[in-house]
Amino acid sequence: MLPPSFSWEMVSRRLALGQAMILVGWGMAFAAENTGPVLAVGSRLEAAADHSRLVFELSGPVKASAHPSTNPARIVVDLPEVAFRIDPKEGRAPANSRLIKSFRYGQFAPGRSRVVIDLAAPARIIKAESESAGEGATLAIELAPATQAQFDAAAAESAAALARSEPASTETAPLFGAPSDKLVVAIDPGHGGVDMGASGKHGEQEKAIVFEFARALAAKIEAGGRLKAVLTRNEDIFLPLSERVRIAHANNAALFLSIHADTLAEGHVAGATVYTVSAKASDAEAAKIAEKENLADQAAGLDRKEDAEQVGDILFELTQRETRAFSAQFSQMLISHWKEAGSLNKNPARSAGFVVLKSYDLPSVLLELGYLSSEKDLARLTSPEWRERAAGKTAEAIEAFFAARSREARAPIKPPLRPQ
Ligand SMILES: [Zn+2]
Repeated sequence: MLPPSFSWEMVSRRLALGQAMILVGWGMAFAAENTGPVLAVGSRLEAAADHSRLVFELSGPVKASAHPSTNPARIVVDLPEVAFRIDPKEGRAPANSRLIKSFRYGQFAPGRSRVVIDLAAPARIIKAESESAGEGATLAIELAPATQAQFDAAAAESAAALARSEPASTETAPLFGAPSDKLVVAIDPGHGGVDMGASGKHGEQEKAIVFEFARALAAKIEAGGRLKAVLTRNEDIFLPLSERVRIAHANNAALFLSIHADTLAEGHVAGATVYTVSAKASDAEAAKIAEKENLADQAAGLDRKEDAEQVGDILFELTQRETRAFSAQFSQMLISHWKEAGSLNKNPARSAGFVVLKSYDLPSVLLELGYLSSEKDLARLTSPEWRERAAGKTAEAIEAFFAARSREARAPIKPPLRPQ
């Protein structure tokens, strides 16, 4: 089990620290010879009876450190920034290893990359080393079978060591741009970096599709001149779910819109769906989607933390009720504007327990642009024309939401509470 001192705040602080360090890193990189990050150009999995070896071919050696982690069982390998030029499918198809189920890789924080190996059976780390080889280098992660008890003990020890190494810090969340008196819309492109999200059958990646959409939407919002758009991530980087919400709060956002494009086993399910948060899912599909999206942190090798619900506080509950009413109002506006974009799901208003929508004081909505598992949606989602039109409709819905709110109340940020 994790020590009590482990928390998301700690992870957030580490990320903020990482962001501060990359600025220093950039300065140094420009001062020294700028050769760019190490490239990873290939990977192979070698399975023998008594061990499994995952080998990456690199353009140069890197410093690697590996540790086991539980729930689910995996090996996390931390690296300096590595640009992975490897087809993600390589990690998806498990080879004939008894120990390794699958693996993924990507950027984890500014200047830091990560390989996450999902285990098929308990394993111990024999080595995680990088060495020069010919023109380039290799990174070899070698695992051997272990008992469940050995694995659990090693994971607990590494979690404790991680907690001890956390520096006390007072970093704040990144603020993008100068403070302004415009209302701020936080746009959250789902997934990123080591967490690739869903993928289409030709290798289309959710993290890239939603990022392009988020950028197009931010441009439309800014072009309107009345609102300010803030993206939770400006690049292909991993962000924990809590960090996405924290960035929105730190930027004083008045609306949070998370953008996704998932897959469902039911390939016929198509069209955009707008989700709000609820304790009980509106339907089985919504529950499935929320469950998948809530696993994003685990995809990157972070451990899950239970929600700390502030129940019983009357002010909290009133604010939460007001926030949820606004979320529902925005959801309806988004749906009515998207009708004109012509690609709505048959049942477009749904709800489930999305972690990223749980702010009690920030109206939050998650827009699934469509499903990568649907041929029709895939064609739309990868079309620049469709993206422009759909981003335009979304921006119109956001403008309409704030216009309605300022009509309803003189104070646009906190209108008086009105029971539903
Ligand atoms: Zn997603």
